[in-house]
Amino acid sequence: MKKILVSGCLFGWSCRYNGSSCECLHPIFVRWRNEGRLIPVCPEVSGGLSTPREPCEIIGNAVISRSGADCTAKYLAGAEEALGLAREQGAALCILKENSPSCGVRSIYDGTFCGRKIPGQGMAARLLRQAGLKVFSENELEAAHKFLAENERSTSRLTKRR
Ligand code: SF4
Repeated sequence: MKKILVSGCLFGWSCRYNGSSCECLHPIFVRWRNEGRLIPVCPEVSGGLSTPREPCEIIGNAVISRSGADCTAKYLAGAEEALGLAREQGAALCILKENSPSCGVRSIYDGTFCGRKIPGQGMAARLLRQAGLKVFSENELEAAHKFLAENERSTSRLTKRR
């Protein structure tokens, strides 16, 4: 059975910067969870940040907190941890939380802490993609479901040929 790396906060962990979660209750996500496919990870916590923590946004190639601290090293460390876990578990794809400076898939906040979003991706999402993993957000579960089904069909064809 193919595994799926998911953002811990979507899985239900209270690991967001303000100590909350944003558990995903979409039927596709819930089914995967019940099947035991999901591997939760919070790159920010894995990278050494505490919960709750100051919000951070991406500015250029750096991740900066609202008070101006450079947190880039911890975000990079967390991204590496997430990639290590994905590889260790043989994850076929990832479902990450949109807009986060770690997990954002297609959009992130613009670095001004004004709540404006811009196209972009978080540090973990970028590293996972660079490593060749397919990354979807919680808003793209139908597409992710289709990708997984195709992936499992092609694996099963290969297994039968051997
Ligand atoms: Fe959720 Fe990712 Fe932020 Fe952790 S780093 S709280 S998993 S969005």
